[in-house]
Amino acid sequence: MASVTLDHLTKTYPNGFISVNDVSLHIEDGEFVIFHGPSGCGKSTILRMIGGLEDITSGEIYLGKELLNDILPRDRRLAMAFQNYTLYRHFNAYDNMALGLRLRDLPRTVIDSRVRTAAKFFGITNVLDKKIKSLSEADKQRVALGRAIVCHPKVLLVDEDFARQNDERRMEMLGDILEINEELGITVLYVTNNEQEALGLNKKIVFMKDGKITDIR
Ligand code: ADP
Ligand code: MG
Repeated sequence: MASVTLDHLTKTYPNGFISVNDVSLHIEDGEFVIFHGPSGCGKSTILRMIGGLEDITSGEIYLGKELLNDILPRDRRLAMAFQNYTLYRHFNAYDNMALGLRLRDLPRTVIDSRVRTAAKFFGITNVLDKKIKSLSEADKQRVALGRAIVCHPKVLLVDEDFARQNDERRMEMLGDILEINEELGITVLYVTNNEQEALGLNKKIVFMKDGKITDIR
């Protein structure tokens, strides 16, 4: 099960600042949930704690019934799409997508099939052998999303700065992410401080302010 449960989740920084303040929330398996609120309200901190990039001060995070708190980031069945796609510019798209699978020592045939399936899904089969540095921003982003899904994550975390480009590209990327959710059944947590975007997606919105949830609609 890929539900996500936050139970009295709190993050206090060493300087005493409380960035996430006693947040409890249950996200169902397969849901697409938007975290929306003004800059600085704690959205990214929540995503980083779920992804394991940030220590949890108190509270619990569960993936299904599994307590994530003490599980290493690489062992969490999650994928993250954050600001830096950290693609290797001098490698081709195929190798960038295959990297995480190779690190897991999966058989070559399995890796090949997963990379090609993901490439087909995003319509980037024709650029698989091209170097990242020669790709359009749109295709780079698709390679990054492809790399995220080849590991068959249960949950995809997307922070808003993943698509800090023009509006058109942002809409395309949102389309890709909606497809990941709807066709692959992957639970998606999407962060945005853009109100139009949050409301326009027609999905559950978690409204946040000053580290707390103020409303869920
Ligand atoms: P959002 O993603 O909603 O814009 P963040 O989760 O990035 O907000 O940050 C929440 C708050 O935590 C911000 O006010 C930010 O300044 C603060 N913050 C982030 N990192 C630290 C840190 N290392 N020490 C103290 N405060 C921090
Ligand atoms: Mg943020």
